[in-house]
Amino acid sequence: MTVLGCNSGGPTRGGGASGYLVTAESRSLVLDLGSGTLQRLFELIPDVPDAVVITHRHIDHMADLLGLYGYLASERRAGELRPTLRVIAPAGVEEAFAGALQAGPAHGYRDIVAFEEPTMDDQITVGAVQCSFAEAEHSVPAVAVRVSHLRRSLTYTGDTGPSTTVERLAAGTDLLIAEAGNDCEQSASYPYHMTVASAVGLASAANAKQLLLTHLHIAATFDDVVAAVAAVKYAGEVQLAAPGLTIHLEQETF
Ligand SMILES: [Zn+2]
Ligand SMILES: [Zn+2]
Repeated sequence: MTVLGCNSGGPTRGGGASGYLVTAESRSLVLDLGSGTLQRLFELIPDVPDAVVITHRHIDHMADLLGLYGYLASERRAGELRPTLRVIAPAGVEEAFAGALQAGPAHGYRDIVAFEEPTMDDQITVGAVQCSFAEAEHSVPAVAVRVSHLRRSLTYTGDTGPSTTVERLAAGTDLLIAEAGNDCEQSASYPYHMTVASAVGLASAANAKQLLLTHLHIAATFDDVVAAVAAVKYAGEVQLAAPGLTIHLEQETF
């Protein structure tokens, strides 16, 4: 897993909004394509991914899907035909995408990207991995996703407030990528993001082996984050997301 971007809200000069590349057996899957993530994706893989999961319709999680579509549309105009790109996303994402294109019912984008809504009960296969989903606690329809490959898994919360369904999805996962976009003052009145403390609490409750904190509140300082992590009992390793950071989830050797 490589971080394409980890900002909440939007890109900065130092990095993009949310995006994570997952590769296994030379296949690839992208979890969110927020603003400022596409160029880094192109630097990391020689082709387009097998699929893109968009957790919800907020612009910091899907803006560069439009960029990827533009790339594929240009290729197509140049005569290159490839399979439609799978985009797995909850309600509202395709509408936001089509709205940005001002696409009518007969628009040709459907030849290039194929949207599918995930169900919360079934696993789906994408390339070499299995994906399962849970509804997240956010201000718009949103999902968390668990990606499994052989005996390893990662779980990405997308944007969510504290949620028992997301906790169940993450149970025993090897890597929890958890958003911490809330500050303590705001968390009672706006329950749609986690604080650092609630993200670490989720990792602990789900018994995740390691935690990657991401999508931090824009005012969070390093010292604040370290203090908040230290205040919660959690046995696993904690890292802060940064663009380009790669975490390998190695298979057990028997
Ligand atoms: Zn967000
Ligand atoms: Zn959001």
